[in-house]
Amino acid sequence: MLNERDVEELLTLRGHEQEELFERARQEREKVFGTRVVLRGVTEIGNSCRVNCEFCPMRRDNTRENETFLADTEALVETAKTISEHGINVVFFQAGEIPQTTKIVGEAIPRIRELYDDDVEILLNLGNKKRSEYEYLREQGATSYILKHETSDPDLNLRMRHETLESRLACMSDLLELGFKTGSGGIVGLPGQTLRSIARDIVLARDMGIHMCSFAPFVPAPNTPLSDWPSGDVDTTLNALAASRLVNPHWLIPSVSALAKNREGGQKSGYLAGANVMTVNFTSQRNSDRYLIYGKDRFVVRPNYGSGLLAELGLTPGRSVFAGKDALIALG
Ligand code: SF4
Repeated sequence: MLNERDVEELLTLRGHEQEELFERARQEREKVFGTRVVLRGVTEIGNSCRVNCEFCPMRRDNTRENETFLADTEALVETAKTISEHGINVVFFQAGEIPQTTKIVGEAIPRIRELYDDDVEILLNLGNKKRSEYEYLREQGATSYILKHETSDPDLNLRMRHETLESRLACMSDLLELGFKTGSGGIVGLPGQTLRSIARDIVLARDMGIHMCSFAPFVPAPNTPLSDWPSGDVDTTLNALAASRLVNPHWLIPSVSALAKNREGGQKSGYLAGANVMTVNFTSQRNSDRYLIYGKDRFVVRPNYGSGLLAELGLTPGRSVFAGKDALIALG
């Protein structure tokens, strides 16, 4: 089993050795998933947040400057219809951390399940919530939840998020105990972050027993305290994806659009490094412009771009592995 030191070494590989790492990661992916890449249809449902992360333009201090929006239950059901028309059965709702999303999303879930005749995974990324709220969302029919720890270094976490790592991990434990397929991951390139700390991010995710893991390079966003900090290194991020695949071949690992933002072709490289999830954006153009997670000129994956990229790589767009008739039982 790979330990922190092994993973740290993998993060440093470049050139020929890096190619070999990617090749191994692709082989491990293929053993479990074949050519299948899970498509998620995401919609961003609100852009207010009570948290004040140093790297995020949606941070609390920016609330007054941003044009805020919050979708209602009806809008979520409508978007789910559009997602289903594209043959995607992972419906993904994402928002800043505010309590209102619990009710809005909770009320939409049974209607969406009905729309899909239950052949659907409802994936949420709505931040820290009380255990009772997670419980409610699970009872309503939510399948999975992404709550990235961002960094496993407690001091850095506190400096970057102004929240304790402990509180984040407690929420992740709640999600796992309630039966959510749970995702985590980190950001590569935060100020003062070491390679060892990134290696620990991966090992921590394994030790917690999560089901999905994601890494994104840091993207300096305007109107944030880190607007002048350099972008995260794409090679280190790709190696983190490949190392994650070796640490747990069963993980769902997305190739995130931030890779393309930091390097042309970066998202394609993510699949070559062993990623197996693509997130396609179904947020309206107007709300997408207001979502601001990487600033106004972020790169958004729309359906046509996504299918073209996968075809180029010889990969197949696939449905949920956690729910519905194409679920992979072996993933548990
Ligand atoms: S990263 Fe998430 S929790 Fe932090 S400010 Fe942005 S939306 Fe809020």
